[in-house]
Amino acid sequence: MTDPTLTDTLDPDDWNAMRQLAHQMLDDAVDRLKGIGDGPVWQPMPQAMRQQFDAPPPAGPEPLEDVYADVVGKLYPHAMGNVHPRFWIWYMGSGCLTGALADFLAAIDGSNLGAGNTGATLVDEQVTDWLRQMMGFPDGASGTLVNGGSMANIVGLTAARNSMAGIDLHRVGLTGMEAPLRFYASDQVHSCHMKAMNLLGLGSEALTCVPTDAAFRMDINALRAAIEADRNYGTRPACIIATAGTTNTGAIDDLSAIADLCREQGLWMHVDGCIGALFAIAPQSRHLVTGLARADSLALDLHKGLHAPFDVGCALLRDRKIHRATFAESAEYLQVATRGLAAAEFLHDYSPETTRGFRALKVWMMLRHHGTDTFGRILDRTVAQASYLTGLIDARPDLELMAPTATTIVCFRHNPGGMTEAELRAHNTEIMLDLQESGLAVIGDTTIRNRHCLRVAICNHRTRQDDLDLLVDAVLRIGAQVRERQAVSAQRTRKQAAPHKKSGAIAPL
Ligand SMILES: *Cc1c(COP(=O)(O)O)cnc(C)c1O
Repeated sequence: MTDPTLTDTLDPDDWNAMRQLAHQMLDDAVDRLKGIGDGPVWQPMPQAMRQQFDAPPPAGPEPLEDVYADVVGKLYPHAMGNVHPRFWIWYMGSGCLTGALADFLAAIDGSNLGAGNTGATLVDEQVTDWLRQMMGFPDGASGTLVNGGSMANIVGLTAARNSMAGIDLHRVGLTGMEAPLRFYASDQVHSCHMKAMNLLGLGSEALTCVPTDAAFRMDINALRAAIEADRNYGTRPACIIATAGTTNTGAIDDLSAIADLCREQGLWMHVDGCIGALFAIAPQSRHLVTGLARADSLALDLHKGLHAPFDVGCALLRDRKIHRATFAESAEYLQVATRGLAAAEFLHDYSPETTRGFRALKVWMMLRHHGTDTFGRILDRTVAQASYLTGLIDARPDLELMAPTATTIVCFRHNPGGMTEAELRAHNTEIMLDLQESGLAVIGDTTIRNRHCLRVAICNHRTRQDDLDLLVDAVLRIGAQVRERQAVSAQRTRKQAAPHKKSGAIAPL
């Protein structure tokens, strides 16, 4: 008998029909991923379809089949494309089926990782401890899974701020400070650190962006000089943020030199390892991050180099006590018990978040399914692919490498000669946009040392070498088309401009 008071529940009326639809979703998912390289990387959504997203909130029910049909018909074709082998615009992972299944299973398990004596808690603790070991952090160091690299950096920088303040910052706040705190990073530092300075109440002036050398690594002499100048000025140097893998060019700061300087100066060492920290498990590339394990805090991005589906990052802290003191709060409704469901250390005492999803499950399942060696080899392969692409660029006189390829990011431009910097920017921007709209490959752009360039960020376990051959061919082909288009339109402009000149009108540029 069904309970007559239970008129509304979110469980299906017909479990078997739901089971069938769920099987269909799974079959479609497997097919989609299996053939992901055959379709376009990305395509814009037609205007008429966009308008369908203006509908008001649905008051009544709709068959799930219909809702799902929209996911397949309207969302999948217009997804970001980061799961595609020729997606290289931003440094982000390409996902995987194991991780996707794990996300589903985590939701079915349903645990809230803020607290609780559960299996999920053990998995969470095991995953952070695995990551600790993979990064070479000492026994007893702590970690917390967060939604990504930005938050992992904020966790580390908050601990740095509180620990270096010289007062009980947790209690009295920044107004109790006698001298303002100073943080240091290279001029290539990720924008999330500016966000962090703002959120931490320190302000953007608290972060000194130190110049970089020709290889885009923080200039250690300039760093030392900046610290000395701040001390003389009466501010309080607190923390050096080293970047292991910059967003613009993939450069890795000299982590050992920075660790030495931190020790000498009594400063906190934070490493933004969102791009490069995972090289620590890659046999050919591990030497690039020597010194990483000397950090006081480290931000890792698992939805980048590990290809976990979004979102999951991790902050590791050398000193568990500092980590806990930074975030722990007590509340009468949150007390650890000696028995029962609350008989476990509260994980939210290590995090700015209280409720957390079971993100650990995808990392746990992916690491177990593939093993760390596989991930290490994939990371090494992306470095080799970036170097291969660099070779293709070097071999072409009309392609210009714009920064040394340090790891997995390649910056270059199409430069057939005879163009100004502004013309080159316009020309290469056109190439990038045409390429994106062609669906063939998606790359991005950036500006380094005031010069615009195309940027290929290879963080993709599906990319093959011939995908990179295809990219270079496409850039050259589109580059030629763009030049032709410009020549034709310039000619038209000249023709149109002639009669207009008499009336004093300005010809369109
Ligand atoms: C991606 C990235 C971040 C931000 O990480 P999210 O996961 O996007 O929040 C921070 N720093 C660096 C160097 C990055 O590459």
